[in-house]
Amino acid sequence: MSGKKGFDVDFKQAPLLVIWEVTRACTLACQHCRASAIDYRHPDELNLEEGKILLDEIKAMGTPIVVFTGGDPLQRTDLEELIRYGKSIGLRIGTIPAGTPRLDKTRMRSLKESGVDQVAFSIDAPNAADHDSFRQVPGSYDLTLQGARWAQELNIPLQINTVFHQGNQHQIDELCDLVKSLEVVFWEVFFLVPTGRGTQLSSCTAEEMEVIFGKLYALSKKVPFVIKVTEAQHYRRHIRQQERKVGPPSSVTHRNPYEVQAKTAHPHAIGRSSKVVNAGNGFCFIDHTGNICPSGFLSEERGNVRTHSLAHIYREDEFFVNLRNPKLLKGKCGRCEFKTSCGGSRSRAWAVTGDAWAEEPFCVLER
Ligand code: SF4
Repeated sequence: MSGKKGFDVDFKQAPLLVIWEVTRACTLACQHCRASAIDYRHPDELNLEEGKILLDEIKAMGTPIVVFTGGDPLQRTDLEELIRYGKSIGLRIGTIPAGTPRLDKTRMRSLKESGVDQVAFSIDAPNAADHDSFRQVPGSYDLTLQGARWAQELNIPLQINTVFHQGNQHQIDELCDLVKSLEVVFWEVFFLVPTGRGTQLSSCTAEEMEVIFGKLYALSKKVPFVIKVTEAQHYRRHIRQQERKVGPPSSVTHRNPYEVQAKTAHPHAIGRSSKVVNAGNGFCFIDHTGNICPSGFLSEERGNVRTHSLAHIYREDEFFVNLRNPKLLKGKCGRCEFKTSCGGSRSRAWAVTGDAWAEEPFCVLER
């Protein structure tokens, strides 16, 4: 099911979305990069034909959405052909170009003509100096904003991705204002998972995350775009606690941003889910050489699409199956009344402790 009513996928059978890292090559050197991307295309990347077979498998499994990520997907000259193929078999397709000189209006027009459903750009600071310092390449901020303007001109639904960490958490208000000004359909707010180059950064504290949750929740009541929080599943717990404090909402429109936005948010936004999505639970990651992982941030390789059935790994592999079992959660997540609707970030638990079922390290409960 798609469109205004959102998607209804049985997460035991298929992920809501598959993220495919079409290349790991990128000229940026972002401080948080889980892939530790470098400007070099690996010779063993999945090729065009293998990519089409993968898209067929994803479609057959029942997954409605695929996002082509990187690295920088624009490094692949066959990106548009992959998008066209995915669209021809009925998938919704998004992609996340990097803010580099490869991002020009000709390429944006080409993406538009390929039928891409949504294009996401990453903005992690409200000014060029901080953003470019984070991306470690001067000019990236201006190129990214230019890309966003081209998306608007070409009528491509626009998504902004932002990663919060210790270095930018104080800029939440300015970032909210910037995103509001860009006419987005979707703001995906990530909280740092310390993997790849991101191990050198500091995460927001549990208390800082609560402050950001509060601001996002307040914003979600006022704006027409989807605000999706990634790798902070306890945002859902925050919302439920706020509702308990203030009593029943005066308008059902503000009851739960996830449930409400799954039904009513911008009709062109690529994908909405009223259920919690977590590594291996509604979500699956294929790396640049075809390895199947629960998430890009939980890169435990459970097979390879060249030799294994993606559907079989997602549905039957013990690691994936256990990630969908809230009874296996440990520590305070295991004791928590919200463990089914939240469950904590399994990627962060894995990155910080090495145990994907450990308690979420940055939740204020029981502190
Ligand atoms: S303790 Fe775990 S399950 Fe409970 S709200 Fe916090 S992160 Fe979510």
